[in-house]
Amino acid sequence: MNQIKKIFFFVLGLLLVSITLFRFIVPPWIAWDKNRVEFSPPYSISTESQQFYHSLTIADLHADTLLWGRNILNRSSFGHIDVPRLIDTNVALQVFSVVTKTPKGLNIKSNNDKSDNITLLALAQGWPWKSLGSLNERALYQAQQLKVFADESGGQLTIIKSREDLENHLSLRKQNNSLVAGILSLEGAHALEGDLQNLTKLYDAGYRLIGLTHFFDNEVGGSAHGLDKNGLTEFGRKVIEQAQNNHMLIDLSHASSKLISDVINITTQPVIVSHTGVKGTCDRSRNLTDEQIRTVAATGGLIGIGFWPIAVCGKTVKDIARAARYAKDIAGIEHIALGSDFDGAVSLPFDVTGLPLLIEVLQKEGFSEREIRLFMGENIVNFFMKTL
Ligand SMILES: [Zn+2]
Repeated sequence: MNQIKKIFFFVLGLLLVSITLFRFIVPPWIAWDKNRVEFSPPYSISTESQQFYHSLTIADLHADTLLWGRNILNRSSFGHIDVPRLIDTNVALQVFSVVTKTPKGLNIKSNNDKSDNITLLALAQGWPWKSLGSLNERALYQAQQLKVFADESGGQLTIIKSREDLENHLSLRKQNNSLVAGILSLEGAHALEGDLQNLTKLYDAGYRLIGLTHFFDNEVGGSAHGLDKNGLTEFGRKVIEQAQNNHMLIDLSHASSKLISDVINITTQPVIVSHTGVKGTCDRSRNLTDEQIRTVAATGGLIGIGFWPIAVCGKTVKDIARAARYAKDIAGIEHIALGSDFDGAVSLPFDVTGLPLLIEVLQKEGFSEREIRLFMGENIVNFFMKTL
């Protein structure tokens, strides 16, 4: 009997240790491991550049931070952003993108939709049960998380849902620049689960941008990393129509070439490509061709220049500036912006506190003060003021 008792308590203990490890150790470890930096903070920047940087309105089009289960109100020693670091770095506006499904063995060339990494991550983080079997619920849950952070931030973090919200935020920020705002964006319309009513639900939950595809083809159209890489489907056409009627903006990052041109042919609003590289400096799949840069700009759209090595073919701040310069020369300065991919399961040259490092490299690439202002954030603010 004693022996059975011993075994029972041993197994129970083992189970408790495993659950604790899975629930409390694994998620932060994954968040740390997936989102590293090449160069650790603090970063050394000249006083002059630092001063100029702090006179700018800083905005960024893409961060996947909500995926990792970190409390973004706390300063973290890993990952790329959180509210304290955004505020320290004078960031006025951050787009928070929401990932709901990524394939196992994820690669940039070809993926199917049969497997999913997020289920296990969601389980480890203790997401609601209903979100385990539903991509739409996952998107709703992450939106809810951002709302909880905003509610608990004592006014430091607000969520922008309209032009009025943005106007208010910017005018409050004139008196107190320790304020940051977020805009919710969906990364992959598979979270609609083929149902237009789910688009309404996501709008009501605060989503104002919708990225059509992520790493696999979905009900809306082809991914640049999918199997078929097709164009826009009939359902996709309806999604765009309904989204644009509601002032939800379309993000063409990760879209196949066919999908990009199909959407540009029917869009009634400017489109964005929130995080991308350009083929002119880095010839990789999903990076924009010169022609795509031109057509996105011609809609009145915005191209967010990514910071990660696969997007810009390099691990330095200079590589980011080179891509920005190339896109500027084709699209025009009004159409380019920051599209970092902070916390996007990528290793970046710096965390958000390194953004001032861009100033000097942009100057070296020939950007004027006015051009730096626009690229570092004013273009994004102007864009949302027109389109939200
Ligand atoms: Zn992405």
